[in-house]
Amino acid sequence: MSRLLLATRNRKKLVELRRILDAEGVTGLEVVGLADVPEFPEAPETGATFEENAVAKAADAARATGLPAVADDSGLEIDALNGMPGVLSARWAGRHGDDQANLELVLGQITDVPDERRGGAFVSAAALVRPDARETVVRGEWRGTIIRESRGANGFGYDPIFVPEGGTATSAELSPEEKDADSHRGRALRLLLPALRELAG
Ligand code: IMP
Repeated sequence: MSRLLLATRNRKKLVELRRILDAEGVTGLEVVGLADVPEFPEAPETGATFEENAVAKAADAARATGLPAVADDSGLEIDALNGMPGVLSARWAGRHGDDQANLELVLGQITDVPDERRGGAFVSAAALVRPDARETVVRGEWRGTIIRESRGANGFGYDPIFVPEGGTATSAELSPEEKDADSHRGRALRLLLPALRELAG
């Protein structure tokens, strides 16, 4: 069984990747997280694109551990804001990870944007970097609409104001399973499957 490092401290992301690999019948990969390997310095995310950030994170992890590593970088692109907050999604209001402040700032910025122009997409780039530095990078997108008031208590980040295309519930009103089945991250991880299958041998 070869080890695959998912460069995250988020247990939910580990569980999600294991679930996708199981569902697709990819055996032969033991998925571990950053908490399972010796610590190494983690560089700040300074890339101009989701892809750059994902590749940088995966490459650092592969170099430090000698393991094949997967990393993802994600965010919300709002059409009326020309694709912002984009790679700055996690720190849009000025502090990293203040979900409520980020969401309120975005809602204020697009208050005057009419309903028919409130489209956007959650985006996730996922990168696999092998110990020989070979890279595979993919992008998953989940289109939807930015509503005017928060709804729902599941999820995180901008989920309470995002209604995925084809439905009426916000992504914070979906169950975790429903969200994974459609989400940008789920899509990106599934696009990595051919490369992960090859790795599993
Ligand atoms: P990351 O952890 O660097 O990829 O940053 C992702 C940021 O984008 C989070 O802090 C959220 O603000 C936003 N984001 C990414 N994916 C989602 C999602 O599935 N739901 C809600 N917000 C998300």
